[in-house]
Amino acid sequence: MKHDKSTTIAVRAGINSDEHHGAVVPAIHLSSTYSLKGFNEKREFDYSRTGNPTRATLAEVIADLEGGSKGIITSTGMSAIHLICQLLSTEDTLLIPHDCYGGSYRLFTFLAQRGLFKLVVVDQNDQAELSKALAQKPKLVLLETPSNPLLRIIDIAAICEQAKAVGALVAVDNTFLSPLLQKPLELGADIVIHSTTKFINGHSDVVGGAVVTKDLELGEHLAWWANCIGITGAAFDSFLTLRGIKTLPVRLKQHKENTEQLVEFLQSHAAIEKIYYPGLVDHPGHQIAKAQQQGFGSMFSFELKGGDAQVRELFAKLELFTLAQSLGGVESLIAHPSTMTHAGMDIEAQKVAGISQTLIRVSVGIEDINDIIADLDNALNATLAVSE
Ligand code: PLP
Repeated sequence: MKHDKSTTIAVRAGINSDEHHGAVVPAIHLSSTYSLKGFNEKREFDYSRTGNPTRATLAEVIADLEGGSKGIITSTGMSAIHLICQLLSTEDTLLIPHDCYGGSYRLFTFLAQRGLFKLVVVDQNDQAELSKALAQKPKLVLLETPSNPLLRIIDIAAICEQAKAVGALVAVDNTFLSPLLQKPLELGADIVIHSTTKFINGHSDVVGGAVVTKDLELGEHLAWWANCIGITGAAFDSFLTLRGIKTLPVRLKQHKENTEQLVEFLQSHAAIEKIYYPGLVDHPGHQIAKAQQQGFGSMFSFELKGGDAQVRELFAKLELFTLAQSLGGVESLIAHPSTMTHAGMDIEAQKVAGISQTLIRVSVGIEDINDIIADLDNALNATLAVSE
């Protein structure tokens, strides 16, 4: 069996890279500019928008973890997503899933409305719809699996094969799992995108993004654009993210353990209508997730029984869980996708994506599982006492 070196790569991110002083931890290079050795004699770095040693170390680590040849660190996950739009011209088509992250959906729809490219939105699990969309020969296909917030699973290898057949590039938003739990490039994708704000940094104190390409030339092309439009990440953020990535393997273990126990507990809860978690055997994407992922992650969502009054009661009664956007940090967060993370989608688009007013999204943290369960159980029980 092939030995996966991801844990060691993550833990040793940037360690021993300081040849000058032997600093064990990579230094933060805050300088915005770098001197030339002499007239027309550039060093490796000349200006921090274009290149920065701390950012370069992070880019290399994430590219290594994804098994790619080029990594680009951007200021946010959204700027990483915007960056891949530079591959599209006015006559090109971008194919996206109907249930992608609300911010991505908003960006694509507004850029397409301005005529920057053509946009096709489909349920990528509906083979007939997908084939029809691919017949339009898109230049780029975006996948998001597991999807935000319904945790739908897309068969990456199967779509890559079909996309290749029509000459399309495939980009996968791997934010929900991180490269330790899913490696889309190994499954045939050309580009991987991350909001490093989430699991990769893991401490909810950096907003950042990353793009990794399989092909070096494609990566250099996107790096050229990242510098050109000025969306490269800051050195300090890169330093913090390098610090965060070292504990990604152990964080993920605890996230997984807690999530499995919490979901098991919630499965029989009287206040819950339905749970969306790919680790459950009756989840429609369970078998694909099992095959293409190295774990089911720590994101899930559920349909709360009742309506608006129950939703309000749930959030009012929670004490440990924080009602907040974002995910993948050490702390447990809870969100109402319709009014929060997916507010960038109009209500019709939300309906098409399956986002209801009683859908609740959970990012399970690494606190003591007994405290996590007790808090959610208490708030859910309170919703049962509410009458509409
Ligand atoms: N992709 C996914 C799947 C996300 O969930 C998010 C944010 O929640 C983004 C991209 C955007 O990332 P950022 O908020 O870092 O710009």
